[in-house]
Amino acid sequence: MLFVLLLAAAVWGLAAAFGIRREIRWLVIGLLYVAILAMLVVLPEGAALRGWLGWSVGAWLVFGGAGLAVWSYAQMLGRLRRRAGSAAEARSEATAPTAGGVGASPRTAALSDAEVERYSRHLILREIGGQGQRRLRNAHVLVVGAGGIGSPALLYLAGAGVGRITLVDDDSVDLSNLQRQVIHRTEDIGRSKVSSAARGIHALNPGVTVVPVERRLDAELAAELIPGVDLVLDGSDGFATRALVNNASVAARVPLLSASVGQWEGQISLFDPARGAPCLACLFPVEPAAGLAPTCAEGGVAGPLPGVLGTMMALETLKELTGAGTGLRGRLLLYDGLYGETRMITVLRRPGCPVCGDI
Ligand SMILES: [Zn+2]
Repeated sequence: MLFVLLLAAAVWGLAAAFGIRREIRWLVIGLLYVAILAMLVVLPEGAALRGWLGWSVGAWLVFGGAGLAVWSYAQMLGRLRRRAGSAAEARSEATAPTAGGVGASPRTAALSDAEVERYSRHLILREIGGQGQRRLRNAHVLVVGAGGIGSPALLYLAGAGVGRITLVDDDSVDLSNLQRQVIHRTEDIGRSKVSSAARGIHALNPGVTVVPVERRLDAELAAELIPGVDLVLDGSDGFATRALVNNASVAARVPLLSASVGQWEGQISLFDPARGAPCLACLFPVEPAAGLAPTCAEGGVAGPLPGVLGTMMALETLKELTGAGTGLRGRLLLYDGLYGETRMITVLRRPGCPVCGDI
């Protein structure tokens, strides 16, 4: 066995020294392998050369099969890499972005080997590919609330490689949060939600930049944070915060993905009056009467329900940032967890809406 490996190494080294191409060298190694198999079949039992060859035919076949598997894997990674950085993508990168201005200043640096492997399941999707993955890497989103909806959304955004996430929440992790706010852990109780969530994001994907903002979102902070991001994700609890996020998003002409849950039901839509869709105030112009829309603390919520809506939010974010599929502009998706039913409602801009009427 040692004799064969030394022979192969000598052939490889000698060929390299003479500048023979890598493909030819692999061909010679392959021929050597076939010759070994042939000798093992032809040579009589007890022949001296059999001892030099070491293994049996079966062992050499297993060795060859393992080598072939490694080679195939390397070829697949190479193909993904070429696809990620192909000239065709560079050309299409120059076309107008579908939304949010993500592609307006394309940073087309090729994906690293680690990125190609981490995002390989995205890269083979026709709708995302290398171009989409770079758009995700270049994107900046604002997430309001690291609670029940924000937790799964943040984890999936991190997993998907959304490059920069600004996260606003002034709350701390409480024992009663852990039934559904899956980015936090028992040992995080008492810690600020933004730092706990940042820990969770970095544990999953150190390549994501998190900007934690441990403050209560008010109109001033919203007006400071929202311009310049590609998309706002609002999973906050409470009408007042939702309304001010909507106001600032409309003013900055930034699309707003908004989801909410209560008890067994949830809803999600993409508000974007700058591109023809309604804003939140078109649908909900005034705060619901007390008791009609109880918060999770007041009315309860099934733990996985915000997981469903938060995960939908992350999926819609990927679509919005890459231009894949059809998003939720002008459509409100309702999910009834108790009966396992979904409904899609077309929603229109409301003439004279005090928030988006001037857009
Ligand atoms: Zn409106």
